[in-house]
Amino acid sequence: MAEEKRAFGYICPKCGKPVYGERTHFALCAAAVGLVCDCGYSELTAEPSGNTYRITVPCGVCGGEHRAEVSAKQILSGSGVGLACPESRQMCCYIGDTGQVQKAMRELEIALEKKKENADSAFIDNVIMYEVLSELKDIAARDGISCTCGAKNCGMEVHGSAVDLICRQCGARLRVSAATDEDLDRLCCQYTLTIRGGM
Ligand SMILES: [Zn+2]
Ligand SMILES: [Zn+2]
Ligand SMILES: [Zn+2]
Repeated sequence: MAEEKRAFGYICPKCGKPVYGERTHFALCAAAVGLVCDCGYSELTAEPSGNTYRITVPCGVCGGEHRAEVSAKQILSGSGVGLACPESRQMCCYIGDTGQVQKAMRELEIALEKKKENADSAFIDNVIMYEVLSELKDIAARDGISCTCGAKNCGMEVHGSAVDLICRQCGARLRVSAATDEDLDRLCCQYTLTIRGGM
């Protein structure tokens, strides 16, 4: 009988690639195991400690590193566990049955790709960007945009998910994000905007 293997998977925060590895039951019970990304910058570790494993996982979602304690039973048997990033509550790591982990990792990779695509997608059909621009025009129309250098005149530079207000006199910039509903809400409750420029 082939020795049973358990799988580990996470997304490398450095290079963005999925990192997948399998370890035998024997190796898992004997000592701490590590799984290093091909790029060499990140490593997941699982260290046995009594009835639990201490897991340290680099997080491809928020770029940080998270620690979790998972019961040895879940690590060594059953379909497995998924660990969520506490910052975003999105899954960032899977441990368990090889087939299940492979499947979950593919889904995780697709979800992160989509998130990235949305972040760099053109603003043309972005409702939020459209709303933010019209809000900025309203604020500008009532002379609500000024610079600490004294200028009242500013230009706008539109990026994928933000607008830069640029002082025409001193060149200082104020970045206004235009990616989420919160960005729009924040802007709508501001009567004036001030660019931090020269004195
Ligand atoms: Zn990497
Ligand atoms: Zn995270
Ligand atoms: Zn200025």
